[in-house]
Amino acid sequence: VFNFSPGPATLPEPVLRQAADEMLDWHGTGMSVMEMSHRGKEFISIHAEAEALLRELLDIPPGYKVLFMQGGAIGENAIVPLNLVGATGKADYVVTGDWSKKSAKEAATYGKVNIAATGEAGKFTAIPKQSDWKLDPGAAYVHICSNETIGGVQYHWTPDTGKVPLVADMSSDILSRPIDVSKYGLIYGGAQKNMGPSGVTVVIVRDDLLGHALPVCPSAFNYKLQAENDSMYNTPPTYAIYILGLVCKYVKERGGMAAMAEHNVAKAKVLYDFLDSSSYFRNSVAKEDRSLMNVPFHLKDPSKDETFLQGAQARGMIQLKGHRSVGGMRASIYNAMPIEGVQALVHFMKEFEKEHG
Ligand code: PLP
Repeated sequence: VFNFSPGPATLPEPVLRQAADEMLDWHGTGMSVMEMSHRGKEFISIHAEAEALLRELLDIPPGYKVLFMQGGAIGENAIVPLNLVGATGKADYVVTGDWSKKSAKEAATYGKVNIAATGEAGKFTAIPKQSDWKLDPGAAYVHICSNETIGGVQYHWTPDTGKVPLVADMSSDILSRPIDVSKYGLIYGGAQKNMGPSGVTVVIVRDDLLGHALPVCPSAFNYKLQAENDSMYNTPPTYAIYILGLVCKYVKERGGMAAMAEHNVAKAKVLYDFLDSSSYFRNSVAKEDRSLMNVPFHLKDPSKDETFLQGAQARGMIQLKGHRSVGGMRASIYNAMPIEGVQALVHFMKEFEKEHG
């Protein structure tokens, strides 16, 4: 089966096989990872290896903490302002789709939010150019979403926010391509697209941003407290961290970020090339902002949506229904989707167009 789910997404099969092999007895300890104390030497080694691999893959410079937290990316919509907005009381948000809109809305509970730019007038089909952003030099940070999972727009450039720290929700594209971490103050993402199972949220935060938490910030969500306790101020999501470590090991063995980017560009090209040549299917996103991870598309005749989904399912291609706010279809093609999956989808789309176009 080719699973085009936007998340939780498919994990690499060798990772799942290794996890299955180690399920009842991890490395001769007689324990499942789920049964280990998070303070025991076995889990501490699993945690340390996962962090080291993530640091290596993303080339995270010294001066940044890596935190494994709970609460997901929606939790981070509150946790980020709770920790950072206190520096000046205000923050800039660039709204490029449903997810960054949600982030901005949540942040307004904790500080003054300035919408520096929004793509809403264009139905979120393009990322506003930075020359049109109205940034506030007094903002505590500028928040972006690097890949809008629902609308299918992705930054293929890194904004320059000067001295104001750049904060990015990278839930749906982290670990899919190289990034220059030094250009960000903070990066966060739920694991469940490219990094592992749901339940663990990765936060990469520059040291100087720690220590500004608002007094109302819950201690479990205080970055400084978590950093001082190696993400173990509360019980961390141990099993999810273990799988994240296995995924990182797998990605490293496959060539790391450069190889992932090459694989993802090649896959997306197959689908976008077809969409651009088709008179029956279309993608509405500006070419330079198209996502390599989530490809929304519409049929010329929406009354055939259900027929399309059923035909795809019968051929082993599942979870292609678009998000309700966009409609149509969406193919999510994260790291674990092989190019054969995208080729099979395009093959079916061609057949469908011939029959119904
Ligand atoms: N941000 C982005 C870009 C997402 O794609 C998602 C989920 O799909 C979220 C935030 C919300 O993540 P969670 O459900 O882990 O809170």
